[in-house]
Amino acid sequence: MKTRLCLLWASFLLGAPVNKQRHRVLLISFDGFRWDYDRDVDTPNLDKMAEDGVKALYVTPPYITITSPTHFTLLSGRYVENHGVIHNMWFNTTSLEKKSYYQSQFVNEWWDNGTLPIWITAQRQGLKTGSLHFPGTASSYQGETAMVREVEPALYNYKNELEWKNNTDKVMGWFRDQDLDFVSLYFGEPDGTGHRYGPDSPQRREMVKQVDRTVGYIRESAQRHGLDDSLNIIITADHGMTTVYRNGLVEEIILSKIPGFSFSDLSFHLVDFGPSGMLLPKPGKLEKVYNALKGSHPHLHVYKKEELPEHLHFSKNDRILPIILWADLGYVINGYFPVQFNKGEHGFDNQEMDMKPFFRAVGPAFHKNLEVGPFETVNIYPLMCHILGIQPEVNDGHLNATKHMLVTSSRAEGEFTSD
Ligand SMILES: [Zn+2]
Repeated sequence: MKTRLCLLWASFLLGAPVNKQRHRVLLISFDGFRWDYDRDVDTPNLDKMAEDGVKALYVTPPYITITSPTHFTLLSGRYVENHGVIHNMWFNTTSLEKKSYYQSQFVNEWWDNGTLPIWITAQRQGLKTGSLHFPGTASSYQGETAMVREVEPALYNYKNELEWKNNTDKVMGWFRDQDLDFVSLYFGEPDGTGHRYGPDSPQRREMVKQVDRTVGYIRESAQRHGLDDSLNIIITADHGMTTVYRNGLVEEIILSKIPGFSFSDLSFHLVDFGPSGMLLPKPGKLEKVYNALKGSHPHLHVYKKEELPEHLHFSKNDRILPIILWADLGYVINGYFPVQFNKGEHGFDNQEMDMKPFFRAVGPAFHKNLEVGPFETVNIYPLMCHILGIQPEVNDGHLNATKHMLVTSSRAEGEFTSD
C-alpha cells in the first residue's frame, strides 16, 4: 500500500501517468499498405484483428508521402518540416552528392537533427525499446539508440514470408526475454509489389494475402510468447499507392521539354523520384525557373516553398529547397527524359485518397470491435506515449484525436492529461 502511494506521489511529481497494468506497444509498418487494400482480397486475419480491436477507416500521412519522412513522423509525432527528415535521399547542395534510400539510413546527421524518436524518449524515462528494420533504426540520436536493434541488411529480400515469420518471433522474443516495452517492426511490402505491378494488379492482391497471413502469425506468436495480457499491437503504414499512367495515354511531365526552363539555371535538383521534386535555382534565377514551370503542364504543381499550401506542412525547414514540384495522381516528374517505369507510385499530396494508409490496433488498451473515423498519423505518437505511460516530446499530434480508441477504465484512477 505504501509502495503504491509512493509511486503515485512520484508520478505526480514527475507529471507522468500511473500504470495499474503493464502496457507494452508493438508498432508495425507494412510499407505502402493502402487503406482499401482489404476490399478486394479476403483478409480473415485483418478482419479478426478489427473484431478484437480497433480499425480506422483510413489514416492521413504527412507530406511528403514517401518512406523515411513518414516513418519518422510515426516515431516522433511531428510533421516532416518539423522533424527534418524531408526526403528518402540525403543530399548536399554544395557537393551535389546524393545518397540512396538505403545509404541514407546510415547518415547519422540526416536523422539526428533535433527530434527524438520514441525509442530514446521511452528509454530516458526508464523503459526498454527495440527496433527491427524500421526506417531510422540505423542512426543514433544524441548518441543513443534503441537498446535492441536490427538494421535491415543491404539487398534484403522484402518478400520472403519465412523471414517475416522469423522477424516476428525474434521481436516477440525480445519482449519476453529482454523485457522490452516498445518495439517498432518494419515490413517492406506491399510497397515493392505495388510499385512493380501497380496497386490494381493480381500480384498486389496476392501480397496482401501474405500480409494478412503474417498478421495472423503475429497475433499467434504474441500469444505463444505469453504477451497477450500486456502487448498492444498497432499496425499501419507510411503511405498508399496509385497507378501511374503509361503507354502514351497521357502527356508525360518532362522538365527538359518545358519552354523557357533549363537545368543550367539550377545549382541542384532532386527529380526523377516519383511525383515530387525540389529545385535549387542559381542565384538570381528563382523567378525565371518558377515562371517557366508554373502553369506549364496541367498536372504539374509548382510552388515556392513559402507559398506551399499549409496542409502539407512542408515549408519551414532549411533542408527543403526553394522550389517544390508535385504531380497529380497518375503522373511522375521526369528530368531530362523518362527514366521511371514503375506501375505504381506514391509521394503525392497527402489529401489524395490513394495516399492514405490503413490502421488497426489490438490489445488490452484498446476497445474491441470499434471502427473509428480517419485521423492523421502524427497522432499515433502521443497515443503510444500515453499507452506506455511516458511523457511525449513536443509534437504535432493530439491525444484527443485517438484517445477514444482506448479502454480508459482499465487504466489508473487519474485520467491522463498529457496531450
Ligand atoms: Zn515505395
